[in-house]
Amino acid sequence: MGVEEKLPAGILLTTVEGVVNWSRKASFWPATFGLACCAIEMMASGSARYDLGRFGMEVFRATPRQADLMIVAGRVSQKMAPVLRQIYDQMPEPKWVLSMGVCASSGGMFNNYAIVQGVDHIVPVDMYLPGCPPRPEMLMDALLKLHEKVQAEPLGDKRRVIVAEEDAPAVPL
Ligand code: SF4
Repeated sequence: MGVEEKLPAGILLTTVEGVVNWSRKASFWPATFGLACCAIEMMASGSARYDLGRFGMEVFRATPRQADLMIVAGRVSQKMAPVLRQIYDQMPEPKWVLSMGVCASSGGMFNNYAIVQGVDHIVPVDMYLPGCPPRPEMLMDALLKLHEKVQAEPLGDKRRVIVAEEDAPAVPL
């Protein structure tokens, strides 16, 4: 007979990791950070019609020190890149990044010198959301997929490395 079968009804077994990740995924505090037209859809997602509050994340924080989720909503200009990185660095660990829209993910239609060709050159990205612009329903779908990712993450140091260019030394983030 397994341990579960010996327990009285109403007793739930889990792990510390499971509880911590469950609380983390259910209480994202996104940084207020809109860059272009995708940000309009992100703001609409917080409205009463779509109600992001159902997922525990209606509080967009005006300071990165209180935020654990960066939604990069729109194309990233070269001038904005160091600012974006600074905001990311000011967010406490653990933190996550969602790249919203084709411009943030790959530069999109802006294949030119002024636009970063993918925000993952600047910060590590946990979830990519395609579309131009993605509708609020798509953003919510990406957030729910991010929930699944967070739930499965091991606890501990979450810092990752990215390799800026082929053969370049890894840059700790
Ligand atoms: Fe604007 Fe489309 Fe780029 Fe989003 S993906 S920032 S809507 S052009």
